[in-house]
Amino acid sequence: MMIETPTLLERFCRYVRIDTQADEANGSAGHYPSTPGQLELGRMLLAELLALGLTDAVQTPKGLIYATIPATIPEQTPVIAWLAHLDTSPETTGKNVHPQVISNYDGGELSLPGDPTKVLRPSEFPELKTVLGKTLITTDGTTLLGADNKAGVAVIMETVAYLMRNRTIAHGRIRICFTCDEEIGHGVDYLEPTELGALVAYTLDGQGQGEIEAETFSADKATITISGINIHPSIGKGKMVNALRVAAAFLARLPAELSPERTADREGFVHPYQVEGGVAQVTIGMLLRDFVTAQLGIQAEMLRTIGVEVEKEYPGSRVTIDVKPQYRNMADGIAKEPRAVEYAIEAMRRAGMEPVMLSIRGGTDGAQLTAKGVPTPNLSTAEHNPHSPLEWSCLEEMQMAVASLVELAQVWAKR
Ligand SMILES: [Zn+2]
Repeated sequence: MMIETPTLLERFCRYVRIDTQADEANGSAGHYPSTPGQLELGRMLLAELLALGLTDAVQTPKGLIYATIPATIPEQTPVIAWLAHLDTSPETTGKNVHPQVISNYDGGELSLPGDPTKVLRPSEFPELKTVLGKTLITTDGTTLLGADNKAGVAVIMETVAYLMRNRTIAHGRIRICFTCDEEIGHGVDYLEPTELGALVAYTLDGQGQGEIEAETFSADKATITISGINIHPSIGKGKMVNALRVAAAFLARLPAELSPERTADREGFVHPYQVEGGVAQVTIGMLLRDFVTAQLGIQAEMLRTIGVEVEKEYPGSRVTIDVKPQYRNMADGIAKEPRAVEYAIEAMRRAGMEPVMLSIRGGTDGAQLTAKGVPTPNLSTAEHNPHSPLEWSCLEEMQMAVASLVELAQVWAKR
């Protein structure tokens, strides 16, 4: 099935020109969204959604956009939602984005015109070899592109336009939601499942084409507090207990093979990422990660065992370990509604792709929304080299994403 997407490229280029870079400092200071550009893009999308006939479209005071594509069939079909985020990464500027459109890509190196040191080479980025003859969009080398996640925004908006033009396509109610500040970890802070009103949601925030991500790490954070005894070093003999030495002994006992440096794919790890303190007290920040949630308890138990060992080795020291949950493997929540993934697989096949299932060595907004009770896998939406001046996207991959959403709407309706 061919899907007409006459406005997709123009739409994408228009969205990326609005600076929506998230700002950590503003976010930490309590501003939501962290930058006004996110509200500006939101207002633009709100006007477009209303013009397309989504009469209930709103922008909330926090800048989230909600809208509904009305059902075309009277039957009780589960409500699904499509999500994308409006902000771009704080890592690279998103101001004055000048998208470069390359038609009929010939497979060669692409020098970005604004910075001669920035070159997209197929030898470095083999994905470029998969898009020969296609239409690519790059930056001019001085900013990011923001395909993460404006490719997702454009794909959703184009799908809305298509479904509103073709009201004979059978589908249930579909909720649209655009979020803010995903890149600084606050994408679903103000997203309430009751307001979303969907059984299942999909984030359109994946790389390339034909991938489905329905599994993330489960994650805990351990804070290890080591107390020593401080006394003037001149009279330290037999009295001083140096928390720094205890901390060093603690870290030395962590198994090296259980580190992010030495693990990949579906292996978990324990990762000390911060040490603060002095002779009297040291705190160590540590990330615990595994795809199997129960393994986190085993990792925490290992830390406690090490703590007891070093307390014995350094009499007078005290080691306390505080473990707090961060997020859970979204596969746990998606398992409660397996259709979320099954139907996405079927939709991609109908659109002509053979989907690939991937596991994310990290967390996503979808994982947090899944934890709030709405199973939310992530789907490909033509992102490449995100967060970088070498970011690029591909029009045909975005078109395939539109086609798979149109199919997804119908798969949910036919069951
Ligand atoms: Zn993203």
